[in-house]
Amino acid sequence: MDDPSSPDARGWALWKLPAKVVTVVLAVEAGAMALVVARASVPTLPDVGLAAFLATLSVVHTELATGIERARRRAAETSYFDLSSVWTFAAALLLPPLLAAAVIGVVYLHLWQRVWRPARVPLYRHVYTTATVLLAAGVARGVVQAAGGLPSGPEDVIGVVGVGLAVLLYVLVNTVLVAAAIAFTRDRPASRDLIGRWDDNALEVATICMGALAAVALGSTPGLVALVLPPILVLHRAVLVRQLEEEASTDSKTGLLNAAAWQTEASRTVRRLHRSGGSAAVLILDLDHFKMVNDAYGHLAGDVVLAAVAAELRAGVREPDIVGRFGGEEFVVLLPDLANGAAGQGQMYEVAERVRKRVAALDVAVRTPDGGLTITGVTVSVGAAAVPGDGTTLEQVMKAADVALYAAKRDGRNVVRVAAGGLPIPDIPAPRQAS
Ligand code: GH3
Ligand code: MG
Ligand code: MG
Repeated sequence: MDDPSSPDARGWALWKLPAKVVTVVLAVEAGAMALVVARASVPTLPDVGLAAFLATLSVVHTELATGIERARRRAAETSYFDLSSVWTFAAALLLPPLLAAAVIGVVYLHLWQRVWRPARVPLYRHVYTTATVLLAAGVARGVVQAAGGLPSGPEDVIGVVGVGLAVLLYVLVNTVLVAAAIAFTRDRPASRDLIGRWDDNALEVATICMGALAAVALGSTPGLVALVLPPILVLHRAVLVRQLEEEASTDSKTGLLNAAAWQTEASRTVRRLHRSGGSAAVLILDLDHFKMVNDAYGHLAGDVVLAAVAAELRAGVREPDIVGRFGGEEFVVLLPDLANGAAGQGQMYEVAERVRKRVAALDVAVRTPDGGLTITGVTVSVGAAAVPGDGTTLEQVMKAADVALYAAKRDGRNVVRVAAGGLPIPDIPAPRQAS
């Protein structure tokens, strides 16, 4: 990921990327240029007027939405959506390629000035996105023309199908091209990195549908296009609210749930299990002698260690396990849906031991004022307690786990201790139940 504070991130950092990425980026950009040039024709005056109208609407839209869009981009590093596609898609359907490209050019230049340059997105990424939009617009226009143009009346079923297909292909071309560039940039990208979040994609499709309606309105009653702005702005705000909610429940240093969000989720799960007669466990983990890490290497290095431990913790448990940073150098994990009785007790111990060992094996590369170094020998003490063996509410089980954690510290640290109320741990832990 680009370091937004580095000067490179602002310029043509493209040349520093692997050759494969540069090739993909340049090929897409050349393809977009070729498409526009090959289909260029002399524009008519009404078309030029329409192009200017669409570009103006987009500028007004972006100005109204700038604050929302900036906050959105800060919250979602890899999200490449913006709602300008309502105008670029309408332009693609209504205008000849050269003018559609001009509208797309104006929309993206304005977005660059107002949104993406201030957010320090590298210029090459923005140029690439513009090229993918040009190609997607070319494909969308091709489909609509093949279907005989925009629907001419209620009986024009093929025209309607053409517009629907154009929406799908516009999204597909954009998504595939952006995913290709990301796939070549990162080592092992997750599918979410490649295609974004499903709700971002849903928003993109909704926006393009509005673009299709705007195009049809512009073809008959241009004034109606003003009705597109309010729903688009409301859609935009809805996404921002969701992103802010997510930010508010995340611990910024580690990316785990923060204490309040963890407690809310964990108590909901414990209540559910209490009702259904299921079992769960709570682990509280506290880094050993962490003050010494800070004292030796500085707080910034300490923060890197915290983030590394958090990542190891997340990687060491299952997907449904709820992991949070409880405060300072303390972490909490709720393990839902364990086996009942002694077998569940064994599972709890097994997970706690596994996590403890994984942390102890960590090598954490940090930068200090004196240069880079690798911190090893970081350890955690773990206190574990079970639902319902040690309590039937989250509060009771947390208390029991905390007492166990103190016992682990007393017993020399880098060990797991299990709450006193628990059943004896069987020698051979049974596998955990599938959830
Ligand atoms: P023990 O084994 O008894 O837990 O020893 P400890 O040093 O880990 O415990 P203590 O409670 O004395 O110190 C906790 C340390 O954690 C002190 C504090 O500076 C550090 N700490 C807490 N939050 C953060 C943080 O966000 N970043 C960094 N770098 N350090 C933190
Ligand atoms: Mg502590
Ligand atoms: Mg500690």
